[in-house]
Amino acid sequence: MTSKYYDPDGSRYGIPTFPRHLAPAGLATKSQLRAQGLRPGGQEPAAQLMWRSRAGGSRGGVRIAWLYRIDAALPVRPMTPARERALARALLARHTCRSCGLVHEYCLPTSLGRTCPPGTGCATPADLAA
Ligand SMILES: [Zn+2]
Repeated sequence: MTSKYYDPDGSRYGIPTFPRHLAPAGLATKSQLRAQGLRPGGQEPAAQLMWRSRAGGSRGGVRIAWLYRIDAALPVRPMTPARERALARALLARHTCRSCGLVHEYCLPTSLGRTCPPGTGCATPADLAA
């Protein structure tokens, strides 16, 4: 069975085009790359998938998905320990009073300059703290 979306030379669509489920080996869509922990990495699409879709109520709409070369894909940037530490520090800073260093369970409001809200920590009046 031939498909009008089968155009491996790109003579009709300007870019090699395949019907869905007929993607050539070595090519993958963005979400397929993502499932392998990869990203296109700035490369141009090498080909495209085209298929007719009735989803979404569009009248015989044609859907397109770009295909990228798997061998030119790059790994998704992993969360390095250094980045994790930086993130944890940034989060902790939001919970830490700049005045007395008390760590709160909640984010301290910037309106107070990230110091203890009234009635807590260093903002507790001396006569109530006793
Ligand atoms: Zn404080």
